[in-house]
Amino acid sequence: MFHPASRLKNKSSRIGLGVYATEFIPHGTITYIRDPLELVINDLDYAALPPLLLAPVERYAYVDEQGNRILSWDLGKYVNHCCFPNTMTTGFGFEIAIRDILPGDEITDEYGLFNLEAPMALSCSKPGCRGIVSASDLDTHVSVWDEEVKSALLRIRQVEQPLWSLVQPELEAQIDDFLADPEQHYPSLSLVKRRQ
Ligand SMILES: [Zn+2]
Repeated sequence: MFHPASRLKNKSSRIGLGVYATEFIPHGTITYIRDPLELVINDLDYAALPPLLLAPVERYAYVDEQGNRILSWDLGKYVNHCCFPNTMTTGFGFEIAIRDILPGDEITDEYGLFNLEAPMALSCSKPGCRGIVSASDLDTHVSVWDEEVKSALLRIRQVEQPLWSLVQPELEAQIDDFLADPEQHYPSLSLVKRRQ
């Protein structure tokens, strides 16, 4: 499920839709969490899909560490990449705001963590835009991204969390272990890489 203080808006005719914050979303807020309504498409399901359904899956699904394609039922699938995103996946199965997000800001994400099967040309137009994003970006940037996510996770108990009821007890225990000893219990983003 995606953070409720968000809405879809047409970004441009070239890029199409984007997801925008309707309220202030503080650094450390869970912005997306995998929930039981997400469509999980394994390799066998994917191979059996009618050709007409391949394009939407390619466009809107991300690939998890087990190689499953995850298709969100709500706004999560419309979040655009940015080379300087304001949210990032955590290695805990949810995404987190890695900086404060103001009302009206576009909510953006780092696609380098989504196990893209083919490099994707970028048009985030930020200074320093990488131009192309691919699964191998994770190897290059993991230490920087880990630090951004750790800094956000340290605030997780200090900010309002509208999605907290979807955090399962086992995950809550992992989060508390992390908060008790961040250096020992941080699951590096390298773990989100698809296992071959
Ligand atoms: Zn970019």
